[in-house]
Amino acid sequence: MADSLHIVCPHCEAVNRVPVLKLAAGGNCGVCRQPLFTGQPLDLDFKNFEKHIGRSDIPVLVDFWAAWCGPCKMMAPVFARAAGELQPRVRLAKVDTEQESGLAAQHNIRSIPTLVLFKEGKEAARIAGAMDLQNLLAWTRQNL
Ligand SMILES: [Zn+2]
Repeated sequence: MADSLHIVCPHCEAVNRVPVLKLAAGGNCGVCRQPLFTGQPLDLDFKNFEKHIGRSDIPVLVDFWAAWCGPCKMMAPVFARAAGELQPRVRLAKVDTEQESGLAAQHNIRSIPTLVLFKEGKEAARIAGAMDLQNLLAWTRQNL
């Protein structure tokens, strides 16, 4: 593994180089000084999606969801808790498929919620349907 990893700031999208040994402590963005990990999922849209997926050296787990989807709403607090568990090993993010229908189409999202795990800019795994915390964590760790 590399000595340092590129981490994209969730606030200003600056690409930070973070020593692996310091990653666990989270740290702040060198540009905007805000925390690189907030313990919450990050909202992605067509403007910041490519940067976070393409420039991040840590895997990014994306929840494709919509406000009208009952199972998505049920899973939202689970996903938020998973962010607390998995970050900074994994970045957790959400895409509102109604607002961002282009991203949903580009990634061939046929049902929601769908979770897609991206590694080095490429899709590594996906799973559709709501999950509880235990299954979500197990599925993610299994695919890292
Ligand atoms: Zn920043």
